[in-house]
Amino acid sequence: AYNFSPGPAALPEAVLRQAQADMLEWGDAGASIVEMSHRGPEFLQVARQAEADLRTLLAIPDDYAVLFPAGGATTQQALIALNFAGAGQRVDYVVSGHWGKTALKQLVSVDVNIAASGDSDGFRTIPARETWRLSKEAAYVHITANETIHGVEFRPGWGRVPPDTGDVPLFADFSSSIASEPVDVSKYGLIYAGAQKNLGPVGISVVIVRRDLLERAGQPRADIFDYRSQLANESMLNTPPTWNWYLLGQTVRWMIEQGGTAEFDRRSALKSKLLYEAIDGSGGFYRNEVDPSVRSRMNVPFFLAEAALDAAFLEGAREAGLIGLKGHRVLGGMRASIYNAMPVEGVQALVDYMQEFRRHHG
Ligand code: PLP
Repeated sequence: AYNFSPGPAALPEAVLRQAQADMLEWGDAGASIVEMSHRGPEFLQVARQAEADLRTLLAIPDDYAVLFPAGGATTQQALIALNFAGAGQRVDYVVSGHWGKTALKQLVSVDVNIAASGDSDGFRTIPARETWRLSKEAAYVHITANETIHGVEFRPGWGRVPPDTGDVPLFADFSSSIASEPVDVSKYGLIYAGAQKNLGPVGISVVIVRRDLLERAGQPRADIFDYRSQLANESMLNTPPTWNWYLLGQTVRWMIEQGGTAEFDRRSALKSKLLYEAIDGSGGFYRNEVDPSVRSRMNVPFFLAEAALDAAFLEGAREAGLIGLKGHRVLGGMRASIYNAMPVEGVQALVDYMQEFRRHHG
């Protein structure tokens, strides 16, 4: 089936096939990759290659460190404040959807300024840069590059991307759009992403951070929550999720082999265009309410004109081999997540099904 799940999401079939073999035995090591010590030469090689490949894929400059922390993006939302803002220090947040709001909930002992929010219009737009009320003394400005549920993304039609935040470093949650197009890492102080959309399986994250920021004192915290300690120990202060790390490395390698971020940029443009045109051209049978200038190329929420048809739509989709289309409970309706592992043919199959369903029910 074509799997449109928002995350954990579809992985490339080639990666899964290789993983099946490596799960049984890693080369001729006599053991599975999941059965080996994280400090042994085999796994260290896997971990270091994953970092080298990620650096290649995203063109990460040398003055940026890369961490592979266990856990999800929400954990990083808590840790960035602990690591980079002093107790009581101002932090600026731009909220463009559900995950921006979740990021706010992870903050304790800092002075939070909501510099802008799209809440009042149901997160159908991203507030214009000119309206942001940024603080000069903020430790950082936080944005969500792509909002997975509301389907809004910082795109060039919105204005200058990434937004200019002057001397205050820009921190961005790239969980659902990392590696979908080339990104100028040097414009960000920190980029983080949970892996389970474009990078691999759930259970591990990626943090890309400008090294000089790691010199900040931050707040009192346990060693295990200290990015500096994690970096000094190659993200292996404790036993890391080795299987997830291995799968992440395989997925990154696959993306490089496919042509890298330039190629995924091309495919994302194509796939999202196909889908939005099908929605907009349906005479109101389907609708997406997001301002076209900030429509996400990764997550496309849409509604049927009659919600009573939702169940039939999903049932028919499943029969047509199209799964994972049910919208998030916050919005309802449908959502098609079309990350890097989703081929153009998958989106075409969805568009064909949508047209067919409309012919029967429209
Ligand atoms: N940020 C974004 C943009 C997300 O899409 C998600 C999850 O879907 C999260 C944060 C939370 O990630 P996790 O469940 O890995 O903590």
